[in-house]
Amino acid sequence: MTQTMTSAKPLLIGGEWRATEHTLTSHNPATGEIIGSVCTGGAAEIDAAVQAARAAFPGWRAAGETERKHALRRLHRALTEQRDEIASLISRENGKPVMEALSADVLVSLDSLAYYIKHGARELAPERLKLQQRMLIGHRVDVVYEPAGVIGIIAPWNVPLAIPLSQIAAALIVGNTVVLKPSELTPLVGHAIAQLCVTANLPPGVVNVVAGAGVTGAALAAHPGTQRIVFTGSVATGKKVAVACAQRLCPCVLELGGVGAAIVRADADPRVAARGVVWSRFVNNGQVCVATQRVYVNQAIAQPFIEAIAQETRKLRRHTEQARGYDVGPLINQAATERVKSQIADAVTHGATVLVGGNCQDGQPATSIEPTVLTNVSPTMAVMRDETFGPLLAVMPVADDAEAIDHANGLTLGLAMSVWTRDVDAGAALARQLESGMVWINDGPVYYSDPTIPWGGVKESGLGRTHGRWGLHALADVKVIARSRSGPRVWWFPYTPIAKRLLDTMIALMHESGPQAKLRGIFRALLR
Ligand code: NAD
Repeated sequence: MTQTMTSAKPLLIGGEWRATEHTLTSHNPATGEIIGSVCTGGAAEIDAAVQAARAAFPGWRAAGETERKHALRRLHRALTEQRDEIASLISRENGKPVMEALSADVLVSLDSLAYYIKHGARELAPERLKLQQRMLIGHRVDVVYEPAGVIGIIAPWNVPLAIPLSQIAAALIVGNTVVLKPSELTPLVGHAIAQLCVTANLPPGVVNVVAGAGVTGAALAAHPGTQRIVFTGSVATGKKVAVACAQRLCPCVLELGGVGAAIVRADADPRVAARGVVWSRFVNNGQVCVATQRVYVNQAIAQPFIEAIAQETRKLRRHTEQARGYDVGPLINQAATERVKSQIADAVTHGATVLVGGNCQDGQPATSIEPTVLTNVSPTMAVMRDETFGPLLAVMPVADDAEAIDHANGLTLGLAMSVWTRDVDAGAALARQLESGMVWINDGPVYYSDPTIPWGGVKESGLGRTHGRWGLHALADVKVIARSRSGPRVWWFPYTPIAKRLLDTMIALMHESGPQAKLRGIFRALLR
């Protein structure tokens, strides 16, 4: 299979590279430089991709576990071999340090593929039920997990490889086929995923990739030929996707945003907690759905903790200052910078203090803003309520755990929170009171790295789960297969007096309490 001669990277539909007249340019957010372009698709290309995925579905479903595992192994091998080029592309297109491209994108993708290869079939093994209804003695009921069909995956730009690729791996091992719509801000990484699928020699149509912006995603979410939509992105877009899916009763998994809270208890080591919180906030320059944005620190250790936060934040090496080796990259675009600036301005107007950072240098690329820490914040400020998705951390002292829990639970979002304490059991008990899909004691977003751990939020942070067996089951249809020997049943027509007596006896036996009441009920049934 050869690519088209145009310089814009083509779409992948039904195993063929397809060029279109519309293109999208991709920029390096650190420099503004154009690093490539891709062809984009609209409703027609989405339709063609869904039809290709539908055509490929019966063959892929029938291929069985072994063939599907072989295909995922080839994908795993292709990514392992190309990891350096792909990590470098992610770093150039998204701005994150290569270290993070390797850890949060490449390694997570490889681990996910390895997990589904090794454990996917076991997680989807048929289950024989232990039946409760005594009238069904002799019957056998199995639950089997069937592939749902075509899965539409709509992806964000902040983890542009691992989010869609781990979702593709889960969909494929179940026996589904896929149409992927990558983010318009990282279309070259989307194309690299298409290229990996071709290198891995996946059968035509099993994975299709159509680049484009929101309209392309909307066409995929609304397409009646898809049986699931897996969407990762903002709450606002997630709600639109949910409406599109509801119109046709298509189940969707929604991985949306959050305003991550950290609770630092009085017994925490302030220096260790500060290092952990700084990483949890500034990894990927704060552009992480589960990043810590609000910190509620017990007033007993607030002073040393805030000092340590300031010290650790000042140490961060920015991409603008370090030619080689940096911790914090650029923001993805100007809109992201404006959002951070406006939250800082809102907080300062309402009395907050900028403890560290706060500057957006003129003359630098517009995407350059310093890692910033705010103190003297209050719960009504935007930074305490709305997702920043950038390098801004707000710290607020509280009197006790109860006050911290009240603040942490005070929003309509509930994706990830953390508790910092020397007493991990007390931390786990506190975790039960937090309205959050995930709670981490003494660590941060590292738990994304293990493919067995379910991922997702409560409240407006999302619906359903990706990863682990929960993620696999979300992409499968539950089917009941009940077996019984051939022969007439007492509960079939006609309804005879003897059948009624048997029914009364059974109810007495099963539901009267105590032996005497059971006996009385049985006699009454028989004498009626
Ligand atoms: P976004 O909502 O702007 O876009 C996400 C995807 O949806 C893109 O591919 C976009 O083209 C597409 N899209 C836009 N409009 C659409 C529509 N009407 N119908 C269907 N698709 C449409 O989000 P983003 O800026 O790419 O990502 C950042 C957001 O994603 C943040 O809020 C972050 O918290 C969230 N996120 C969540 C998770 C998670 O696992 N919960 C992970 C990463 C990012």
